[in-house]
Amino acid sequence: MSEAECESRFEALRFASSGGEPFCVWCQCPVVYRITRKVKNRKTGTITQRRLFKCAKCAKQFSVTSGTEFHSRKLSFKKIMLATLLWANGSAGQAALQLRRDLRCNHKTAWLLEHRVRDAMTSYMAGRQLSGPIETDSTSIGGKVRKANRAADRKGQPRRHMEKVTNLSVLRERGRRGRVVPFLGDEAKLVRAIHTLVDAKAEFFVDEHPAWNALFAQFPVRQIKHKVQYSDLRGTSTNLAESYFSRFKRMYNGIYRHFSPQYAQAYNGECAFREEHRGLSNGEQFILMLTGALNHPPSTRWRGYYQRTRRKAA
Ligand SMILES: [Zn+2]
Repeated sequence: MSEAECESRFEALRFASSGGEPFCVWCQCPVVYRITRKVKNRKTGTITQRRLFKCAKCAKQFSVTSGTEFHSRKLSFKKIMLATLLWANGSAGQAALQLRRDLRCNHKTAWLLEHRVRDAMTSYMAGRQLSGPIETDSTSIGGKVRKANRAADRKGQPRRHMEKVTNLSVLRERGRRGRVVPFLGDEAKLVRAIHTLVDAKAEFFVDEHPAWNALFAQFPVRQIKHKVQYSDLRGTSTNLAESYFSRFKRMYNGIYRHFSPQYAQAYNGECAFREEHRGLSNGEQFILMLTGALNHPPSTRWRGYYQRTRRKAA
């Protein structure tokens, strides 16, 4: 695919809501003109032509990536497409380090590109209210204590550095097309926020953690005691929620290796997106990821991420 073909593909996805017909991204006016602007490369001095649009109403100029997650992009359309495709191909994601090698770009570029698309993935799922039978569970990652060399010194060592542990939770609808909502926090925090995440008719499947007791008064709850069994003959289990964390931990241990607590929810969101769309082909997942990023406003967190320290110093 040539760069121009990739740009046309971006255009089709960016303006999918109007059947591929470009509209003004600033005032939504449907009448826009196609224009080209000559841009000189400061380093090489070569002149290239940029394809732009100009609005008939507000007269503002914009490109196909203006006002999206790829706003003020530096990478070519081809590389953004390739990166998203390679990332979608990975069953549990793709490390930025590997993407760097595949794209032949800087590690920071690959890492930031992943986070921008991840941001679109997470906000796609935000604000939804789950319904019907829902399985929920929590887990903790990070803070593992390195075992002492001498066996005698290992006695009494704690299993985790509790100040470094990140707690994550998940809510997952039962059924093949069940939706998944990632949550940053432990059981108690999830229970406090439960009414924003589920509707009034929800039914819960939980394990024996005491924090779930607060749910009993508000919803129908079925509890499975893991000390006795993982599932009973009535179909009570939290196996779907456990399987979500199984995937998440493989992603954490096998692909990304480590991430700071401040980024944990971004990875939780990515995992939930992959789990929810696991039935789709990788091509469909790729289109969904790219469309999501192209219809998402520029992320305030990631835009200018590496320039931020410089901005503060100035
Ligand atoms: Zn306009």
